[in-house]
Amino acid sequence: MKPAPFAYGKARSVAHAIELLADDEARLLAGGQSLIATLNMRLSTPRMLVDLNGIGGLDAIAIKSGMIEIGAMVRHAKAERSADIARHAPLLAKALPHIGHPAIRNRGTIGGSIAFADPAAELPACLVALGGEVEITGPQGSRSVKADDFFKDLFETALTARDVLTAIRTPAAAADSRIGFAEFARRHGDYAMVGLAACARAEGKGLKDVRLAYFGVGPTPLRARNAETSLAGGDIDTAVTALGKDLTPPDDVQATGAVKKHLAGVLLRRVARQLMEPRS
Ligand code: FAD
Repeated sequence: MKPAPFAYGKARSVAHAIELLADDEARLLAGGQSLIATLNMRLSTPRMLVDLNGIGGLDAIAIKSGMIEIGAMVRHAKAERSADIARHAPLLAKALPHIGHPAIRNRGTIGGSIAFADPAAELPACLVALGGEVEITGPQGSRSVKADDFFKDLFETALTARDVLTAIRTPAAAADSRIGFAEFARRHGDYAMVGLAACARAEGKGLKDVRLAYFGVGPTPLRARNAETSLAGGDIDTAVTALGKDLTPPDDVQATGAVKKHLAGVLLRRVARQLMEPRS
């Protein structure tokens, strides 16, 4: 299928992009890996596409004040190869190869994945697990939104129609940081049926500050807060049982809610073992 006709504007700067977004029917174009498919299927018929690809400076990766900042236009493939991300945000490095296939990761962007907020996507859950934040610029200036507050509902975020997501930030990994990541997908590269991104800090032989963010089990990434508490207490069986209170996955085309709940428990056992391992 072909998209409905649309106008095209190439933004020269973030301010220029916001100016072009004054048209209510305008949409931002980043890597196009999700947007172009929705246009081709006519699920979306914007009057104008505002292309972010010509804006300099949105593709930087920097370490600032104990945080790693990743520009919105950093491609998944660049992030996957980044030594800074491997060292300072190893959870992202572990999750990135699970996104689609190399052709998709060559074009898809970090900002696009977070802004699109697919409930089965890896990076939104990683950002929540890491306790990260999203940097946004709009007509009123810039603001930071915590990942816990950014994902509002199915494909709904704290972004308004006139905002540009410019970067994400997460605390840089410390010596006592622990991470875990696992997902079930029917084939490698497919969106996950259920996935889990996790962070914690080592405390003696146990864990503290456990953050478990599931994806593919609800409209947004979901923290499993009862399981977090149980895992910090060192009890994996109780943590798996606690998932019963944390998650009520709906049935979808991939599996029933009951199957997803079972898979969530299996993933928790795998990820718990990763969290217990010292960083190499
Ligand atoms: P685009 O498609 O350009 O934009 C997506 C949406 O976000 C649009 O509404 C756009 O307006 C908005 N947007 C983009 N950038 C910004 C910004 N900076 N500020 C505000 N709004 C913005 N993803 C996964 O996570 N896991 C997978 O397993 C996976 N598998 C895939 C398999 C296939 C076959 C395909 C085609 C895609 C797959 N994807 C998967 C999606 C891929 O990761 C996309 O790249 C990503 O979801 C969107 O990024 P993008 O840069 O392509 O954004």
